[in-house]
Amino acid sequence: MTLETSRRHDAQYAREGGCNASLSTAMMDRRSMLSGMAGLAASVVPSRSADANRLIDRSRLIWLRNQAGEEFAGAFRGPEGVPAAEVMERLRHLFRDLRAEALGPLPVALVDVLSLIQAGWRHERPLLLHSGYRTRGTNALLEGAARASLHLEGQAADFGMRGISLPDLAEAASAFSRIFSFMGVGIYRNFVHVDVGPRRMWRGD
Ligand SMILES: [Zn+2]
Repeated sequence: MTLETSRRHDAQYAREGGCNASLSTAMMDRRSMLSGMAGLAASVVPSRSADANRLIDRSRLIWLRNQAGEEFAGAFRGPEGVPAAEVMERLRHLFRDLRAEALGPLPVALVDVLSLIQAGWRHERPLLLHSGYRTRGTNALLEGAARASLHLEGQAADFGMRGISLPDLAEAASAFSRIFSFMGVGIYRNFVHVDVGPRRMWRGD
């Protein structure tokens, strides 16, 4: 995907009110959302007792650890659903380019999708972030990284979850990609990539 495509998509995304709108549109179609969530719960949640409403409520939580061992666990949206600025700032710090010690942007939509994926395991284990924001310099050093990677715009995360197989994580991400009609999902040998760009799926090395 080119940056051009990504920008066009972003403009459309912004017009639609970002992830809030995408999420609430999805939630308005409650039956489809719940069946999506229930399907997800049935397919990937270890304990099938979790109910879909509880998963949706918990979607405001995130537990994340970066490669420097820095961690955040808690709510990133307040009771009214408004993103908590200071929490988003902490998360932006966790998502920074660790090699270059550079902070990038962090769209709340990316945290939303990671949180929803994590809700499939009831936020009981941290997302292990392999890579969030990347500077051009860092991206150029990575073998196989796309030149126009959405990591350069802070719109992508590579992650795993201890004890959860990557295909299960990728399947959870793909379920949301189907529900929301956006999100790129890539499965690699050591991590799953998700981004808030257009909907697409691939398998990498
Ligand atoms: Zn990636």
